[in-house]
Amino acid sequence: MKITILGGGLSALSLAYFLQDRAEIEQIDILEQAQKVGGLCRTYNKKGIEYDVGPHIIFSKDKEILDWMNNLLGENKEEHRRSNRILYKNRFVQYPFENDLSKLPKEDKDYCVNGFMHNPYEDYDAENMLQFFLKTFGEGITNLYLRPYNEKIWKFDPSLMDTQMVNRIPKPPKEDILRSASGETVDGYTHQLYFTYPKQGGTEALIESLKNRLSSKVKIHANSKVISVSKKANIFEARTNEGNYVSDKVISTIPANEFCHIYKDEHKPQEVLTAADNLRYNSIAVCIINVKKDYAGDNYAFMVADKNVIFHRISKLDFMGKNYHKEGTATYMAEITYRKNDLNDKQTDEELVKKVVEGLEQIGFIDSQEDVNFAEIKRFEYAYVIYDLNHRKNMDLIKNYFVRQGIYLNGRFGSFEYLNMDAVIRQSKSLAERIE
Ligand SMILES: Cc1cc2nc3c(=O)[nH]c(=O)nc-3n(C[C@H](O)[C@H](O)[C@H](O)COP(=O)(O)OP(=O)(O)OC[C@H]3O[C@@H](n4cnc5c(N)ncnc54)[C@H](O)[C@@H]3O)c2cc1C
Repeated sequence: MKITILGGGLSALSLAYFLQDRAEIEQIDILEQAQKVGGLCRTYNKKGIEYDVGPHIIFSKDKEILDWMNNLLGENKEEHRRSNRILYKNRFVQYPFENDLSKLPKEDKDYCVNGFMHNPYEDYDAENMLQFFLKTFGEGITNLYLRPYNEKIWKFDPSLMDTQMVNRIPKPPKEDILRSASGETVDGYTHQLYFTYPKQGGTEALIESLKNRLSSKVKIHANSKVISVSKKANIFEARTNEGNYVSDKVISTIPANEFCHIYKDEHKPQEVLTAADNLRYNSIAVCIINVKKDYAGDNYAFMVADKNVIFHRISKLDFMGKNYHKEGTATYMAEITYRKNDLNDKQTDEELVKKVVEGLEQIGFIDSQEDVNFAEIKRFEYAYVIYDLNHRKNMDLIKNYFVRQGIYLNGRFGSFEYLNMDAVIRQSKSLAERIE
C-alpha cells in the first residue's frame, strides 16, 4: 500500500512514524509546500536567538504522549516550572486569574469574590463561551479578565463562540476562591505546572528528532505545494508544483478549508464548499524584540488583557538555554492575532513593531524606544481555530464528506480543531491504528 500525506507539520510526521512499521505499507510520501517540514513547530533565528511560532512548551495530561515527546528529545531538554503572570492594572497576578485574587485592587477583588459567591448565572446551561464564563466564574472574573482577554486573543465575541474549548475547565471550589482572595496563591491547572523545553534548537528540535526516526519508507518532499487531489477507481492522485503522486490512501493535514477546494470531485456538494468558506481562524504575528534591560525576572509569560496594548501575550525565553539568550540583554516575544483585512492585518511590519514598543513602554517593560536593540516580525496565516457557533456543524459536514471519499483529515488545521502538539500526536497515533 502507498500512502500520501498532504502537509509536513507535526501531524504528518508523527502519523508517518506510527504507520511506518506496518508490513503492508511500501511507501509514505509527505508533501510539504515550505522548504522545510515542521509547520507551526518550526524555529527561527534572529541574530543568534532561536525562537518559535509563539513559544511552544511541552506539557500534557496524556502521560503516554508526554513521555513519547520527552523521549524524542533525549538529553536535549530541561524541565521548567511554569511562572505565568497576568498583567492587570500594572500588577502581576498569577495565572490563572481566579487563583490570585488578593493581588487585585480591593474594589476589583470584592467584585470577583461577590460575583462568584452569589452567582445568578450558576443554574443556567451555558450555550456559548461567554455564558460558560459567567456560569463558572461569575460576573467579576468574567468582566475584569476573561471577557476582555478572550475578545483580544480571538478577535471574536465570546458570545458567538461555542463551549467546545472551555467546557472541560473545572469550576473552582468556593474555598479556593476565598483562599485566593485572602492572599494564598493557589496553583491551578497542575498538568501545566511543569513543562519541558529543548535546551537548544527550539521546538523544531522535536521535529528534527522525529525526522531522524523515520525509516527509508518515508519520503519527504519539501517545496511541494499540493495543487489538487483527485480519485479514479480508488486510486488517488495528488498534484504538486514539483510532480504528481499516486497512492491508495490520502491523509490531509493541510487546512481543511483549502483542501475542500483543491479536492476535485464533480459531485462535491455545494454545502461542503460553503461550510469550508465559513470556517474561521486567526493568524498570528510574532514579534521578537531584544532589549537592554530585563524587567520580567524569571517569569515565562505574561497575559495582557488591556486593549490599549497590541499584544495579548509576551514571553521571555532567556532562561531556557544559551541559544535563547544574548548576554546583558533580555529577549521577549510578543504575540498579536489578526484576521485577513482587519486593522492589525493592514499594518506594515514597521507599524506593528512600533506598537509593540509602545505596549512594552505602557506595561513598564522598557523606559523608551532607546532600550530596544533589535526587533523582527514574522506572520503565520494559520494559527488558531475559532470555535464559532457554526464550527461543529461545518466541520462535521466536511469530515463526513471526506470519510465517504475515503480520505482522512488529521492535525490542527487538517481536522480544524484546537489541538496542541500532544493532541495532534494522539490523533495521529489513533488514526494510524484505524487505517486499513
Ligand atoms: C502561537 C502558537 C503557540 C502554540 N503553543 C503550543 C504549546 O505551547 N504547546 C503545544 O503543545 N502546542 C502549541 N501550539 C500548537 C502546535 O503548534 C500545533 O498543535 C502543531 O504544530 C500542529 O501541527 P500540524 O501538523 O497539525 O499543523 P501545521 O504545523 O500547521 O502543519 C501543516 C503543514 O501543511 C503545510 N501545507 C499547507 N498547505 C499546503 C499545501 N497546499 N501543500 C503542501 N503543504 C501544505 C504547511 O506549510 C505546514 O507545514 C501552538 C500553536 C500556536 C499557533
